Amino acid sequence: KILTNIYNFNAGPSALPKSVLLEAQESMFNYKNSGLSVMEMSHRSPLYEEIHFNSLNKLRSLLSVPDDFEILFLQGGASLQFAMIPMNFLTPGKQAAFVLSGSWSEKAWKEASRIGETYILASTKDEMYRRIPEVNFDSCKENTAYIHLTSNNTIFGTQWPSYPIKDPNIPVCMDASSDILSRSIDWNQMDLVYAGAQKNAGPSGITIVIIRKSLMETANSHIPTILSYNTHAKSDSLYHTPPTGSIFILGLVMKWIEEQGGVEAMRLHSKTKGSLLYQTIDESDGFYVGHATESSRSSMNVTFNLRNEQLEKQFLHEAKAKGFVGLNGHRSIGGCRASIYNAVPLSHVESLVEFMKNFQKTHV
Ligand code: PLP
Repeated sequence: KILTNIYNFNAGPSALPKSVLLEAQESMFNYKNSGLSVMEMSHRSPLYEEIHFNSLNKLRSLLSVPDDFEILFLQGGASLQFAMIPMNFLTPGKQAAFVLSGSWSEKAWKEASRIGETYILASTKDEMYRRIPEVNFDSCKENTAYIHLTSNNTIFGTQWPSYPIKDPNIPVCMDASSDILSRSIDWNQMDLVYAGAQKNAGPSGITIVIIRKSLMETANSHIPTILSYNTHAKSDSLYHTPPTGSIFILGLVMKWIEEQGGVEAMRLHSKTKGSLLYQTIDESDGFYVGHATESSRSSMNVTFNLRNEQLEKQFLHEAKAKGFVGLNGHRSIGGCRASIYNAVPLSHVESLVEFMKNFQKTHV
């Protein structure tokens, strides 16, 4: 029923657990024998409410989100958050501090700069974003509205190993689109964490926003209703019609993560998969060259190059013929990228490693 001879290394939307897809086939189209598919029922019905709160509660429990944080299910992708955060919190007289660690953080910074004043706290742009910059949050300007950072840089394949200690007076907002639910989050260090669901949490169409209630109280109220975090918090993310099907599948993914042993199990799983690939790169005598410096390597997106573009093309061509999907690097930087999100099985990474080794043998 579901293709099994495909190894999905797409960067997003990306692999979903096969068992989730099978369960969705069974339960989504005639939900609890109601005769209705999840997509057909009213979002105001008790039947849908059960789905909605189940997904919210499971996410809260998996990430150990404290009660003083609100979890919102929004639309518009992580990209809308690039605009919503400054609209809510970047008020006149204040400046937002950005750590530039890749293309997505640049986009977030540019969007905020259209709305208010911003400054760059740290950047590794001139090093082709090969590493996470060193940052001292103490060096923020006094009128800083918030600090923005990106936990995992999907395009360049870097990830923060840990975060600087936060100044209690300056909120920290983090884009965790490409590593949410792959490691725990220290909620003492974060005030707003957001993520498009389509990598580690479910299908596209839903954006997770986890926000400290006391921060939300300081939000600008002179913005369109739909763009205000308070609007969505007050109505449990049911202010308008939510993406019901995506929220249902997100709930199935949360159940799957629980069954695997939770977020810590996901962290260990990613570490094993990442180590296998990085080891293959490191032991290839320069046949494969990793993009990220070792201390900043991502356990979600493994980026690498081959000797020249022609060999890369050949690699991608042969990989595709063997069923490896999505290994091409982002169109902005080229090269190769294996995205090994939570749902990518270890066996698929082992098959990729075998392919990489064989390819090297035949193309030295
Ligand atoms: N932030 C990061 C880190 C991403 O990887 C992506 C997409 O790949 C985005 C933001 C944009 O997300 P969306 O397409 O949901 O707007």
